[in-house]
Amino acid sequence: MNSYDVIIIGGGVIGCAVAREISRYRLSAAVLEKELDVACGNSSRNTGMLHAGFTYKPSSLKAECAVEGNKEFDLVAKELNVPFRRTGKVVVGFTDHDMENILKYKAIGEQNGVEGLEIINKEQLNQLDSSAGGEFAMYAPSSGILDPMQYTIALAENACQNGVDFHFGQLVTGIERQGDLYEIKTSKGSFTTKWVINCAGMYASEVSEMLGYPNYPVKGFKGEYFVLDKRAGQHLNIPVYPAPNDKGGFATHATITIDGNVLVGPDSYVVEDREDYSVTKDHMDGLIADGQKMFKHMKREYFIRNFAGIRWKRYNPETGEILDFLLESDESHPNTVNLVGIESPGITCALPLARRAVKLLADAENPSLNPDFNPNRKGIEKFSEMTHEEQKNAIEEDADYGEIICRCETVTKAEILAAINNPLGVHTITGIKNRTRATMGRCQGGYCETRITELIERELGIPMEDVRYNKEASYLFTGKVRG
Ligand SMILES: Cc1cc2nc3c(=O)[nH]c(=O)nc-3n(C[C@H](O)[C@H](O)[C@H](O)COP(=O)(O)OP(=O)(O)OC[C@H]3O[C@@H](n4cnc5c(N)ncnc54)[C@H](O)[C@@H]3O)c2cc1C
Repeated sequence: MNSYDVIIIGGGVIGCAVAREISRYRLSAAVLEKELDVACGNSSRNTGMLHAGFTYKPSSLKAECAVEGNKEFDLVAKELNVPFRRTGKVVVGFTDHDMENILKYKAIGEQNGVEGLEIINKEQLNQLDSSAGGEFAMYAPSSGILDPMQYTIALAENACQNGVDFHFGQLVTGIERQGDLYEIKTSKGSFTTKWVINCAGMYASEVSEMLGYPNYPVKGFKGEYFVLDKRAGQHLNIPVYPAPNDKGGFATHATITIDGNVLVGPDSYVVEDREDYSVTKDHMDGLIADGQKMFKHMKREYFIRNFAGIRWKRYNPETGEILDFLLESDESHPNTVNLVGIESPGITCALPLARRAVKLLADAENPSLNPDFNPNRKGIEKFSEMTHEEQKNAIEEDADYGEIICRCETVTKAEILAAINNPLGVHTITGIKNRTRATMGRCQGGYCETRITELIERELGIPMEDVRYNKEASYLFTGKVRG
């Protein structure tokens, strides 16, 4: 079907959260995504912190949505069956100036409604985590950690199960108003729709212009990371952030991930290229130096991978001031909702922002509720997290649980097959990786990548040569290695 009531451009966490909120109504809706899966942009290139909300300007959309998103997340994680842990966070300091800034942001946090912020001394900090650097800290008990890929996938799958279509490999190239409808041109064809919601992340300003809104100036702040293996994770209980700078920004931090790895990063520097996620030696050296100040067990032998993400911030070109998230809809651009500059804390704010976006549409359309809407979604059960008894039962019921495909992360054939048959119809290697953690361990897919490819071929009938790693042309095998 190419004609909808609502089309959402972009399948990052914001587009998928909007899709889920739209599916509460009896409306036909689709997400158009240029990549081959959801969570291929910055929604998979971040720290995965559920932020508490203490660095954002009071009454800003960032502050309002962060606090709201933080408070509701236990329920959201339960509904969507995604892993989440309210670890708390420490913001550590070394100098009097650090203490001044920490106190400043503690006061802002309290104004924003963040509960439980507390200044702790070195002894208390050591009790919370002896691996954390710092002479003192602010403890924020409401911060938490989640897997941003799993969260985005869960939002999308829940939207899909409630009736939203997902079209991948559809780069939106133009939008034209035709009568009461919009015609959206893509790299593969065209779609018509009554409403358009712009969730295009790094290209949101360009899509904004396609809709007749300004091409808002945005600046890219790139941040690089180290991923440390789970041996490092055994030393860290809680995310450790440095005291914020005078503008409320955080330098390199050390964060335990929901799966037990440690992320060290991101640093921050301005870039032009919208999607240059390369990592560089100079920045790696900086991360090591800064990371050691936060995490005493930062050692080279733990490094398994690097990645980078880019925060696209809206700014005032005259003053350089960084601006709030933009969420707008007006009569001179009928039936559109425009979201631009959704940088950090976009993961934390995704559902509150989506509710606000969808309310603009619902107030105008007054659509009836979807009587079949189900907020609950079931994820793929992890063999590695089952008790021995549960593992035994799982293998008895389905022998595929007895075959380990990814040795590093103990991912079974049954889980890989469940991921291959995912509701969104995604069948790239990174699609399987983000749904199961296969290839994310110490060997980074050296052992299991070809076995996963083989399973995709067998299960879906896609020849191995046509299986892609992540992008349109990222074929894994071309030609013959051996006869
Ligand atoms: C380094 C870093 C650390 C961060 N840490 C945190 C954190 O700890 N906690 C937190 O809450 N937030 C964090 N964030 C912020 C968060 O990652 C982003 O705010 C969020 O992912 C933005 O989601 P999005 O959907 O707007 O963008 P994206 O995830 O980038 O999605 C946009 C999507 O639109 C698609 N698209 C773009 N143009 C088109 C087009 N023309 N046609 C079709 N599709 C298109 C893209 O392919 C992409 O998939 C961090 C961000 C960065 C970069």
